[in-house]
Amino acid sequence: MWWEGGLRFTCLSCGRCCRGAPGAIYFTDSEGAEIASFLSLSDAEFRRRYVTLRWEAPSIRERQNGECLMYDASTARCAIYPVRPAQCCLFPFWPSLLESREEWDAAARYCPGMNSGELHTAVEISSLLRINPFPDLL
Ligand code: SF4
Ligand code: SF4
Repeated sequence: MWWEGGLRFTCLSCGRCCRGAPGAIYFTDSEGAEIASFLSLSDAEFRRRYVTLRWEAPSIRERQNGECLMYDASTARCAIYPVRPAQCCLFPFWPSLLESREEWDAAARYCPGMNSGELHTAVEISSLLRINPFPDLL
């Protein structure tokens, strides 16, 4: 694999991956239950207010401008940060971005934390790939 020497990444908390072009923000049922609880909502109410089925699996909705509905522009932070889905925690170590150097570098054009900062070893990246709940979708 092309990343056997590891990859550099440190999140700079710029929030760009929470806004911009539309995209799915998948969550598992247990993650959904945690988010609902964090927001003091029933699971049904959480799904009614915040979830879309426009993608291949339930996903957190976005605003017209592409921001994730959980993104708080006033603080530039995720409003559910302690319980955000694994998809968000695992970025940019998604299968689709690790497929090729070209895919990785294309993502790095909007994520300033990629290709600099902490070196993540191939062993570490492989373990992140194994815990990804949506390996066929991300
Ligand atoms: S775009 Fe990259 S650096 Fe910015 S918040 Fe997302 S992961 Fe972090
Ligand atoms: S859930 Fe939070 S971390 Fe994930 S995309 Fe939305 S605002 Fe960003």
